[in-house]
Amino acid sequence: MESKAKFDCCDNSQEKRLSSVNDTVSRAVSLCSKITEFEDVPLPGAAGRVNFGETVSLFSLPIHDHSAVDGYALGGSGKKAFKIVGLMIAGDCPKGRIATDEAVRIMTGAPTPNGTRSVVMQEHATVSDGCVVPNFDVPEGDNIRRAGEDVQVNQSLVRSGTRLDARHTALMTASGYQTACVVRKIRVAVLSTGNELRDTGVGMGPGHIFDTNRPMLRTLLNSNAVETTDLGIIKDDLGAISETLKEAAGDHDLIITSGGVSVGEEDHLKAAVVAAGGSIEGWRMAIKPGKPIALGKIGKAVYLGLPGNPLACFVDFLLVGRPVLEALAGAVQRAPLVLNARAAFGWQRRPGRLEFFPCNIVGTSQEGFPLLEKTGRAGSARLMPLIEADGLGAVTAGCSSIEPGSELKFYPFRADMGL
Ligand code: AMP
Ligand code: MG
Repeated sequence: MESKAKFDCCDNSQEKRLSSVNDTVSRAVSLCSKITEFEDVPLPGAAGRVNFGETVSLFSLPIHDHSAVDGYALGGSGKKAFKIVGLMIAGDCPKGRIATDEAVRIMTGAPTPNGTRSVVMQEHATVSDGCVVPNFDVPEGDNIRRAGEDVQVNQSLVRSGTRLDARHTALMTASGYQTACVVRKIRVAVLSTGNELRDTGVGMGPGHIFDTNRPMLRTLLNSNAVETTDLGIIKDDLGAISETLKEAAGDHDLIITSGGVSVGEEDHLKAAVVAAGGSIEGWRMAIKPGKPIALGKIGKAVYLGLPGNPLACFVDFLLVGRPVLEALAGAVQRAPLVLNARAAFGWQRRPGRLEFFPCNIVGTSQEGFPLLEKTGRAGSARLMPLIEADGLGAVTAGCSSIEPGSELKFYPFRADMGL
């Protein structure tokens, strides 16, 4: 599968043998086969799921001609007296016919009687002696919503691969659907590796740390479209890891591990994937933090090995894990939202890799760009700077110096109008 999500940041590595983010994402996506199983899900609960196949409208929208305002349906033209011959309220059955000198008192949403030429708002008309006189000659069709003017029967409503949200719930419900046909949930197994890791409350001793990545990844994976299996913490033992991977590959679409993908003595993941009968396709990305990352396949399952350092793990999941989930679901790939921004700080750095750092927006530059401040000293193991951050800032690989006002890219965590 070809990735359409191009990462809009100059990420040409200055270090050899490292893949760019775009190449890594493309490779990761190319390992994914779109899931072809589907299910019907009641509509409000389908938000977050990916539409399977194209959805066409069962009804025209509006379903029938109706009034857009509270007022009077007029049978003819002119600034003259129309005899009021009836009342239509929302929910009334379409009925009757009005003559050119007749009117019907009508409420918003009520079907317009046959013969209606226009509807005048009650604020724009005078009523006396059982007649209504519009204040002006109301143009033909005014305030009538015509059947089918928004959507025709059988018109395409939602394309295959669309991630559903409140807009789709509304449109599909309005056009007659109770359920959506969606891709089945993606089955993801998550595990951590490391002798030093403990779950909170379980056998913490000297030299141990709390397993942070697994709960973090489970939170990142928390979606209607994903079913996560927590495989716990596995010791730095080649046999134990490969056994776990092999078993997980049987009934998962994606296996995500963290730790053990660097080049240390206890970094067993690459060997474990091979020992489990799988293959490794790539393992180093030209970014900071997040360089060590393993991509592969074990049987039909896609394998994603994320770095142990929590910030690196977080960044790599957002950059590579998210597109993998989209590809497995057959969702239309969307590149992350990236904004042009300016630095509010100075920074001397070693050039070489595209670098991400937690930052927040502290104002607007003279040119109108968001002004960014770092939220702490960056470091792949540091989590505290993330807490205050509005998103990730990025500097290009070749950059050695940032001055206040320098150009940066900004990847916001939140979209306040987000769906
Ligand atoms: P590794 O990639 O296994 O060499 O780990 C790199 C660093 O990340 C080490 O300091 C590990 O202790 C730490 N680390 C690995 N996995 C986790 C985890 N699940 N939670 C928190 N820290 C971790
Ligand atoms: Mg380790």
